[in-house]
Formats: sequence, structure tokens, C-alpha cells
Amino acid sequence: MTAPVEAPPAPPVPEPTPLPGRLAGLAHLAHNLAWSWNRDARMIFKEIDESLWQRLRHNPIRLLQLVDPARLVQLADDAVFCARYDRAMQWLASERSDEHTWYARTFPELRGQPVAYFCAEFGVHNSVPIYSGGLGVLAGDHLKTASDLGIPLVAVGILYRQGYFDQHIRVDGWQEDSNDAIDFNAVPIVPLPGKDGEKHLVTVNTFGRDINIRVWKMQVGRVPVYLLDSDLPENHPDDRPLLSKLYSGGPAMRLRQEWLLGVGGVRALRALGIAPAAWHANEGHAAFMMVERVRELCQQGVSFADAVKRVRNRSVFTTHTPVPAGHDHFGVNEVRQCAQGYWNEMGIDAETFLRIGYMPESGTGVYHMTAASVRLSRRVNAVSRRHGIVTRVMSRSLWNGREAENIPVGHVTNGVHLATWMANPIMKLLDDHLGPAWGHSNDPALWEQVLTLDDEALWFTHSRLKHTLMRLVREEARNAFARRQIEATQLVGAGTLLDPKTLTIGFARRFATYKRADLIFRDVERLRKLVTNVQRPVQIVFAGKAHPADNPGKQVLQNVYHFTRDPRFEGRVAFVEDYGMHLAHLLVQGVDLWMNLPRVPLEASGTSGMKAALNGVPQISTIDGWWEEGYEGNNGWAITPEEDDEAGISTSNRLYELLEQEVVPRYYDVDKNELPRRWLATMKHSIRVAGQQFTARRMVEQYARAYYAPSILGDSLPDDPPIA
Ligand SMILES: *Cc1c(COP(=O)(O)O)cnc(C)c1O
Repeated sequence: MTAPVEAPPAPPVPEPTPLPGRLAGLAHLAHNLAWSWNRDARMIFKEIDESLWQRLRHNPIRLLQLVDPARLVQLADDAVFCARYDRAMQWLASERSDEHTWYARTFPELRGQPVAYFCAEFGVHNSVPIYSGGLGVLAGDHLKTASDLGIPLVAVGILYRQGYFDQHIRVDGWQEDSNDAIDFNAVPIVPLPGKDGEKHLVTVNTFGRDINIRVWKMQVGRVPVYLLDSDLPENHPDDRPLLSKLYSGGPAMRLRQEWLLGVGGVRALRALGIAPAAWHANEGHAAFMMVERVRELCQQGVSFADAVKRVRNRSVFTTHTPVPAGHDHFGVNEVRQCAQGYWNEMGIDAETFLRIGYMPESGTGVYHMTAASVRLSRRVNAVSRRHGIVTRVMSRSLWNGREAENIPVGHVTNGVHLATWMANPIMKLLDDHLGPAWGHSNDPALWEQVLTLDDEALWFTHSRLKHTLMRLVREEARNAFARRQIEATQLVGAGTLLDPKTLTIGFARRFATYKRADLIFRDVERLRKLVTNVQRPVQIVFAGKAHPADNPGKQVLQNVYHFTRDPRFEGRVAFVEDYGMHLAHLLVQGVDLWMNLPRVPLEASGTSGMKAALNGVPQISTIDGWWEEGYEGNNGWAITPEEDDEAGISTSNRLYELLEQEVVPRYYDVDKNELPRRWLATMKHSIRVAGQQFTARRMVEQYARAYYAPSILGDSLPDDPPIA
């Protein structure tokens, strides 16, 4: 158990900012994260003070606190600025109603029937650090899209007061993790009042103690996100920090967090008077949300078996990991202590209660969150076609050994939120080329027109984005040098010698070992030849965090870091610290090629390559996850590993071969106008395929049609009584 948090943070009241009356709405705009995907709103904050905006890593609340008031007075008189401001405010106001949305048109009968969406992390914007990686960012993109489409989603998550850790790399390449408590004056999160003047809204009993939970609200366009917090003075000192850190503290803490998320989350929605008509658990972390609903029904006199049926009919479960070891599981004794006596309220005994999480291959000693989720959800999906196949095979035991093809697990391939991930200048190009409505369309024919984009304009735009990335990398290195007096080799390794004309490969994601960040170094000499070729050099930019408890992951990072300082690579291999959504934007928009080398079939989907593709950055990747669907032969490169390529030998050889024979020649093949025509064709196909198939709009529409609406309408499925 970690030490209790000493002092409660400063009162979470945003400082009143003296705004000129004409611009009074800015405070409101800054407090709804919808600003982050509205182009006018983003431009407004940038125009207020561009260098401050960049220094604050795009935090509008901080910006309004720190900007020179005279500047705002000046802008209140600026007609162009005010016109933009009015447009943004009108848009925000229109976001309050869901009348003219896709959902209202498609499912008029379902308006006003909320869908609850539970996830252990949400990555909505860099300024709210309550996410660690792909799962959280996907959940954030889901919320934004639900807002765009007008789906009445209400989200439930955890307010990690310590945020996700900040990363610093020591001179020897070892990752150090530091936590900065969230500054409640700088995030758009407000506490909701409890009952009778209390701070807490609900109470959950676990390990024999009552824990009071406070609920905070964060607004993401039309979608409210309710965040749970246990750090209240009336709670036991050991319980106060339970929800303060993301994915740390080992299984004991995880179990408590998931119990509080599931049980506490349902109670919070009830206390707020929200009655969801369908419930979506994004990953097994939220399985107790379904268990709590079973308990509620049992308390109302419904039998356990009927309660399970009713909860199943309204529940959707999305699984994200293709290996059983990656799924959360706990010892049954811990779960028994965690839930102490809870089963009495369900009218069942402890054994029946624990059987909800029984996974045959793990035995009776293990409580498996995936097994619990599958038992309590009628609609289950994986996150790519390939992951669907793997998941059906893997879950056979839960279906009494039924053949994989008869297991009712579908797939909805992940997608990314276009307005969040596509760079402004690329959107501008598409405005001019495709007409005004393109951003709201998955129409394949419309996206075909990307192929006729003007080469010169696209190349110029891409080059600008690349310059922006490299300027930022230098700026970060300059700061690190000034703050920490880092050494010359570290300055080089931080990317100060990167050159904007050189073919630049990006690799950024969590440093989980299966993602094999260091695979490209398997044959150092062969890579060195590629990188240091005088006429046609290559440079590589890495970023990413290893999980604080993942020492093998930290070793991979250390290995990569070591090469960034190796003079043999002439400063052409860089590692940029503190990967998060901010850096992710710059990288997916500013490199030339996105690299992804997961060990097949361990990448359920992957999403960073989709973000890159939307910006005309093609991907080179092993055929896994989304790339199995996304690779069309002209939008990047695919590597099919040989059987049993544990060491990655055939994968890395194929990677070198593709880089030497196809990628580098194509990139440097320029015509008399200095335009790489063939490369530009690859870029356009990347945008086309991503726009047609890999946006979150396509994904969330699919969830609405095939999962949410049928759950609410009670459409019958082939009756599949599971494994009760
Ligand atoms: C998109 C994203 C990810 C997911 O990357 P993968 O390559 O799909 O693992 C992780 N972290 C951040 C910050 C992201 O934006």
C-alpha cells in the first residue's frame, strides 16, 4: 500500500480571469474539451499568444490565466479575431442540442436513452493526464466521435490525481518516472456536489471498509465524463490514494481500483439520476460494472439467473488484448476479500459469485475479468478482423469448447478521431480539394478524390509539418540542456542534428516488449549503412514510455537510447522524451514513414499508424492488427513474418530489404521540380485508405448500429445461453 497523500490539493476552483465582455465566452470554451477538435477554437487560443500557447502545451485554462490582459483587450477590438470567436461560440452552442445529428436521424426512437461507457483511462487531451496509452486515447476518440454523432453517451472513469508519470531518461538510458499531481486549477474538471453538503456522492464497501467516493465531471463536447476519486479526508488513510495512480501498485491496488470503478461507477450514475439503456465495458477492467447491476436486480427481487440474463442483454464488452496473460485476473481469495459478503445481497453463495470470473484454463483459483465480462455481455467484440479470429479461438473454453467459427464474438476495427489527429494544414488542403463537407464523411468515392490532390501543395504542406516537428525537437533539447545541463551526446541523442530533408522514420508507442522498438538494430552494420548513406540518408525518431513496473520494457528503451548516442549513427537516431498525446500529434504529422514491428499476433489493432496515415505518412509494419485490413499494396509496406520468428530475424531482414530496395529509392526519386512523385502517390493512398476505413466515425457508427441500438431495442440474437 502506498503512503497516504499528505495534503489535499488546492481548492479546485478555477481562478476567475478578467476577460473583456466581448470575449467572455472564452472561459466556457476552455472548459469544454470540444475546443480541442474545433479548428476555430484551436486557432483562437493559438492567436491569443502563440509562444505562450506552445510553452503551455496547448492548455487553454492556463493560457487564460497567464496571458497579458492587455492582449485580450486588443483582441476584443480585432474584427477578424472576433468573427472567429463568434463562429466557435455558435458551434459550441449548437453542441448543446443533439437535434440534427447522425444519431437523431438514424435512430430517432433512441434519442434521450443514454449509453454508459466505462473505461479505466481516457486520453482526451494532453492537458488531462489520466491515460497511459493506446486504450485511453482510443476511448477519448470514442467520446469525441459519440459527441460528433450525437450519441447520448455518458462516460465513467477514474480521476488519477497523480496523472500518468512524467518520463526522464538518465544519462545511462534508464527511465525514471516522476509523478506530478494534477493541478485542479489547470484542468477542465469540476467536482459534483454530494448529498447533504457532503463531498462524496456514493459509498462502496471493499476489504471490509466503506470507501466514500467523490465524483468529478469533465465535459467532452456533448459527452459528460464522470471521474471517481477516493481521496477524501473521511476515508481510511490507506484508501485515500487508491485511485490516485494509473496502473501501478500491483494487483492488490488494481483489484480495488477496478472494484471501485465498476461498483462505484454504477452507483454514481444512479445517484446522478442517469438511467443507461445500454452499457459498454471498454476492456475487462470494467467487468464489475455488470456484476453491480446483477446485484441491483437481485435486490429488487429478481432471481440471480434472470438478473444475469437481463444484464447480459444490455451489455457490450470490447476486448483489446490477444493473449490471455494480458488480461486482468486476480486470485479468488483476494476477490473474496474485496467483495466480502457482497454475494449475500445477490442471494447467492461465494462460490457462485466467484464462478462469474472462472476461466477454465486458469483453474478455480483465478478470477478472470475477461471471463466475467463475456459471461455478463451478450455482445462481445474484438478490435480488428484478425483480433476477432484470435479471440474466438482463445475463448473456446468459455463456450464449452464450441468450434471457433460458431462463437458469437464479432469485431469492430478501431479507428481514430479525424479532427483530433489530422494536422490543420492537411485539413486545409482537403477543404480546398474536396469541398466543405468532407470531414463528416466516410464516403469511399469522396476519399478517392484525394488521389488527385496537387503534388506540389501536398509536398509543401508535409515539409512544413516536418519542419515544425524538428523545431520542436530542438526546442525540447534546448530546454533539457538549460534545465539539466545534459551532455553533448544526450543533446545529439535528443535529435538536435536531425535534418528536414532526410527520410525520417517515426516509431512511438508504449515500450511493451512485444512491440520490439529495438528490432531495427538487430543488424547494426546493415542499419548503419542505410542511415549514413551520403546521398540518401535515413533518420529515425523514437519516443515512448515503458510501464513503471516493466523492467524488460525499460531495458528495450535503454537499448534504443544507447544507439541514439552512438557516433556510428552520426546523430541520425533520436529519442524524444515524455511521449504523450502532444508529442504523438507532432510525430504522426511530421515524419515521413511510420514504423510498427509488433510480434504477430500480439497487436490487437494498433492505432498510431492510422493517425500517421491520415496525415499522408505511410506505414511499414508487420501484418498484424489493423494493417491486415489496411494494407492495400500502394499505401505503405507490409512484412509477413516466417513461422516461428521469435527472434525477429526474418522480420528484420525483410524490413532492411524493403527499406533498401523500395522505401529509400522511392523517397529520393524526385523529378526536375524536386518532387518525389511516386512517394507522393503512396502518401495519397495512405490518406485515402485511412479516411475511408479507419476513422473513429466509421468505428462508432458501427458500434451504434450493431451493438448499442440492438442492445437498447432488445433485438434477439440466436439464443446462446453461455456457460452459466
Ligand atoms: C495513438 C497513441 C497510442 C497507440 O499507439 P499504438 O502504436 O497503436 O500502440 C499510444 N499512445 C499515445 C499517446 C497515442 O496517441
